[in-house]
This record gives sequence, structure tokens and C-alpha cells, in this order.
Amino acid sequence: MLPNSRWNPRVAVAPPGPESRKALKRMHQVIGRADYMGLYGVVLKGSSGTCIEDLDGNRYLDCLSGAAVNVLGYDAPQVVSAYADAAKAIQQTCFSYTPSLPAIELAEHLARITPGNHHRKVLFELSGSNSMDAALQIAWRVTGKDILLRFQNAYHGSTWLSKTLNGFAPPRSRYFSRHHFATLPFPTNPRLSEQVIEAIELHLSQGNVAGLVFETVQGDGGGGVALGSFFKRAAPLLRRHGALLIADEVQTGMGRTGTWWGIDQEEIIPDLMVTGKALGAGFAPISALVGRAELVDALDQGAQITSFKGHPPSCAAAIETIKTIERHNLLQHAAQMGKRLLSGFRTLVEEYPDIFVQARGRGLILSLECQVGKNPLACRIFAMRCVEKGLYLGYWGRRQEALLIVPPLIFSREDVQTTLSIIKEVAEETRSGKIPDATIQQVSSTEAVGFVLFGGSPAQPEPQSTHGL
Ligand code: PMP
Repeated sequence: MLPNSRWNPRVAVAPPGPESRKALKRMHQVIGRADYMGLYGVVLKGSSGTCIEDLDGNRYLDCLSGAAVNVLGYDAPQVVSAYADAAKAIQQTCFSYTPSLPAIELAEHLARITPGNHHRKVLFELSGSNSMDAALQIAWRVTGKDILLRFQNAYHGSTWLSKTLNGFAPPRSRYFSRHHFATLPFPTNPRLSEQVIEAIELHLSQGNVAGLVFETVQGDGGGGVALGSFFKRAAPLLRRHGALLIADEVQTGMGRTGTWWGIDQEEIIPDLMVTGKALGAGFAPISALVGRAELVDALDQGAQITSFKGHPPSCAAAIETIKTIERHNLLQHAAQMGKRLLSGFRTLVEEYPDIFVQARGRGLILSLECQVGKNPLACRIFAMRCVEKGLYLGYWGRRQEALLIVPPLIFSREDVQTTLSIIKEVAEETRSGKIPDATIQQVSSTEAVGFVLFGGSPAQPEPQSTHGL
């Protein structure tokens, strides 16, 4: 399957074109606004290789992968067949009542590809948010303690429970009376790392910490990468106090960082780990919690039942996703393509210090932070202009300041080259004031809310170090 796109980027109609606009109008008639954040107003209809196509026939090189999901790109007939074969055999059994083999086999694969020598067990869910909920419940249940440590700007989900865990800003109401979240800065440099270690020691000394919930690279938070040594230092401290290490690998997992999991590069073994998004490569909505058997089994029998968990076709698609990643050495490939992209981005930061602040990332989860000081829309305008030139990427972060690049793992050298040249072209236009007025107007009129949804406005002050929720 490697590589890649049978299509090339091609934008004939300024996005969003008339067909996308028409579809959005229909959408607004029938779908509630909470379901839509807005990004570029583009509505998709097709895909091939590493390209996506909108309703107006525009084709974009995809650096967003349907929210870091479509790791195998868009031609993975083996996954489709695995799904279809399982569906033909039996489409649904309700695993919680009547198990089926695909879920058991997938759990075996997940136990195999996650680190550690201990006995590991799995709980399935349909989304990262739901699996994070399970992790939090386990942490509170097994430790009997109340406080979960989390990082600023972290995103962990959109269910009631996982939403309260997000480190963007305090949620608007008090959801829980007893359980609390303490927010720590994300340790991206030695000074912060030192401060965070001290803060963790302080929290632990008060004897009420259930665990630390973390991403190794913050996806939706703007691509911050934790300092290499941080987790290795934090892990023994937490262990000594019986606090759990809970790795959120929903975005970093399934090869995105160039290893199966972000934690593989931190040399730590978490007690609980959550995967989702890319687990079914976009062919099936499926997520899982993988953890120490005795912790996973701390939840009561039947405490996490849902109709569709362990759905046989979805599990079959996930098994085939794992096998395809292995068969085609996609971990190694993602690491190599990521290195090329990051080095290209670093060159761009040197060439355009007036436009970019920093390039960062690991494997194929990368971000380019833009200068947004004087113009809060600067990064969005830059991203919109990339889209107009056929490059589909995200703009995330607390102030929507970072371009997020999370392409399919099958991204080729040519794709890397195309990405870098389009970004360079847009940087050149930005510097010389040649971004068309229509692009700027389009951004100013777009309803994109970004991740302010999970906190107040982007201009709000940083959350305090501890929030009782
Ligand atoms: N954790 C992380 C790190 C995520 O990026 C996301 C989704 N953006 C989630 C959890 C929630 O996953 P889902 O949207 O599948 O519920």
C-alpha cells in the first residue's frame, strides 16, 4: 500500500465552494451547533491515497487525517474486506451479553503491542472520551484518592467526565464535589520540568493524588512535546505514593509518533493507557483502555457495558489496521517522514522568524507555531491560505496559534515536499502582504470556534494551578 496518492492536490474553486456552502446550510437546519466547530467550511465527499476531495471537486493533500484518525490514508481495501467479512459473518453480538472472537483477538493484539511484562487487560469503548472516563473511574476506585493531576492545554475528551479533565480552563460549573483535578504546566523545557516535578512532589506529599493523566505530545493543545526526561523522573515519584500513570495515547498512539505509542519513547510503562482515533484507521469508531489486569478488573462486573463495544466488524478492522502497520513497517516510515518534515519546518522557522515561532513534534504529529501577537487570526488566515492551495491542515492550541500536521502514516517523500512548498509559498505571501483580501474575509466570517469550546475565550488567563471541580 505504500505509497500513496493517486491524486494530486488541485483547487479549482475557492473553498468553501458553492456545493460545500449549500451543504452547510442544510446542516445548520438539522444538526445542532454543538456538533460542529467549523474549520474551513469545506464538506468532503471522497478520498484517495493521501488526498481528500470536497463537494466542489477540490482535492487537498490531507495533513489532518480526519482528526489524526486515518493512519492508513484512504486506500486500505484489506481493512474494508476485514470489516465486511466480519459483518457478513455476524454484524453485532453485543459483546457485553454475548462475546465474539474479533474483540478477544483484538485485545490480544493490543496486549502484545503495549509495553510491559505484566498481565494486561482491555476494556473496549467507541471513543477516546469514553475510554478516558473508564480510566478516571479506575484511578479513583483503586486508589481511593481524589485528585488527578493533569496538564494545562491538555485535551482528553468530550463526555461529561472527560470534559472536566481538559486542561484548557475550568469548566463552567462544579461537576463533582469530591473529585478534583490539579493543573500543572506542560513540561516542555528544563525549567518547567523542574517546576512541575516540584509541584508533583508537593501534591503527593498531601496524600490525596490518584494519578497523573498525560499526553506525551499535546495534540489539540498545540503540539507541545514533553521534555525527554520528564516522565522518567515523574514515574517513580508517583509510584512511590501509589498514584497511577495514565497515558492518553488517543492521538499519539497507533504509530503516529513513529513508535506504537508515545510512551515507548519515554521508556515508561503506564498503569493505564487509552487508545482510540487511529485504532480502526477511520473505518470503525473504536477505542480501548489497556492496563494492568488487576486495575482494569477493579471495576465491577458489567460496570462498563454499552451496546456496541467489542463490535465484531470494528474489531476486525482494528486488527487489520495493526497488521497493516506491521506489514508495511509504517512505524519506521512515519519516523522517517516526520524527521524530514520537522527539519523542513525548522528551516522555515529560521527563514521566517517574523511568521513562525517554533516547529515541534515527534514522528507525524507536528506543529508550527505562528506569531499571533498582533493578529489573533494570523494562524487561521495562514491555514486558510494553505487550504486554498490544496493543503488541508489544522490550527489548534489555546490561542489557535499552531498549525497542526497529523498526516496519514503512509505520507510519501513527495507529500512531504508538497507540504513544505505550500507552507513556504504562503509564508512568502504573508511576508510580502500578498494574502488575498478574500482569504482574510473568509476567515473573519467563518464560525470556527477551535478549542476555546472547552474553556472560556482564548484571551482568558491561564488556569490556576488547582481547580476543585
Ligand atoms: N484524548 C486526546 C489526546 C484526544 O486528542 C482526543 C480527541 N481529540 C480525545 C482524548 C477524545 O477522543 P474522542 O474524540 O474519540 O472522544
